[in-house]
Amino acid sequence: MGTHFLPRPDVAMRAGYHSPQVDVDVRLNTNESPFPPPPAFLDALAAEVGRVRWHRYPDRAAWELRVKIAALHGVAPEQVFVANGSNEVLQTLTLTYAGPGRSVAVFEPTYAMHSQIARVAGSEVAVGARAADLSLDDAEVRRVLAESSPALTYVCSPNNPTGMIEALDTVRDLLGLVPGLLVVDEAYSQFAPSTALDLIGEDVPLVVTRTFSKTWSMAAARLGYLVGPTWVVAELEKVVLPYHLDTFKQAAGRIALDFVADMERRVAGLVEERGRVMAQLVDLPVEVWPSSANFVLFRPLERDGDTVWHDLVDQSVLVRNCSSWPGLDGCLRVTIGTADEDDCFLAALRKALS
Ligand code: PMP
Repeated sequence: MGTHFLPRPDVAMRAGYHSPQVDVDVRLNTNESPFPPPPAFLDALAAEVGRVRWHRYPDRAAWELRVKIAALHGVAPEQVFVANGSNEVLQTLTLTYAGPGRSVAVFEPTYAMHSQIARVAGSEVAVGARAADLSLDDAEVRRVLAESSPALTYVCSPNNPTGMIEALDTVRDLLGLVPGLLVVDEAYSQFAPSTALDLIGEDVPLVVTRTFSKTWSMAAARLGYLVGPTWVVAELEKVVLPYHLDTFKQAAGRIALDFVADMERRVAGLVEERGRVMAQLVDLPVEVWPSSANFVLFRPLERDGDTVWHDLVDQSVLVRNCSSWPGLDGCLRVTIGTADEDDCFLAALRKALS
């Protein structure tokens, strides 16, 4: 076969991003919300479908949606970039600021798509290791930044899959160190006590990414955004495909933002439920990490993590198997679900551990 029938060699050698989906009763593996959006949201959205001018391209700038997101965070609409899930936000950021000849810094273990997107875009990935307690290690951060001079430096707060947050002082320190942009991935930040959005400014090399997939109960819609300096947003607009955000999705995002109180109630309920699950996990023979997200990382102490994962699947409970990820030997990650789902998980785990 001619080489033109083959993918790029660097793509051919990569495994891609995998999150096994198994047909089970209790799915606690992808950090979605266990609750749908409120019925009034669905009614408003259904009414909007009739008003969509389907034969016309969408508003390319997604202006009204950006105005509403900006109002939510007290920034200007020109500081907001919207795309199909925060993954597409991260991809656009990478295509704009990284790619061939540039590097991207990540600190493992963290969200795998940061490095996956960077590599697919042809960037070098500078991988730093977190400390044994999975927090950021200051000396390691300085080493990686000095050695690779990354165009993008990622931190994820709360970090997926550990659930741990970076203190605002840590983010401030990082801003003094990074040679390029600092990206704080806040996919789960509504579950956490602080946000790097408080540090956003025109002269600050910081962007914060958010998603509608988790707290907004809208994973099906694929909608995410970034808040950052206007000069970053202007460059991203040049790179993203024209009309990338369809009219229906823009409406879904706008309407969701009329239901902030519902979202906050769901989040508060999940935070409480996280406390309940955590309180039961600490009584089991597992190591548990503190979480500021809607998931909890734990490591069975007396049984192999992979075996426990299979035992849970056999009991129709699916959690994320992180047991072979770097730095996460034997670890599993469970999403906080409804109380019933969590009770099923806890009962299945007790059985799997005994
Ligand atoms: N960032 C983090 C840390 C995530 O965990 C996820 C979802 N797994 C995303 C980004 C992507 O979310 P989405 O593309 O659904 O907005």
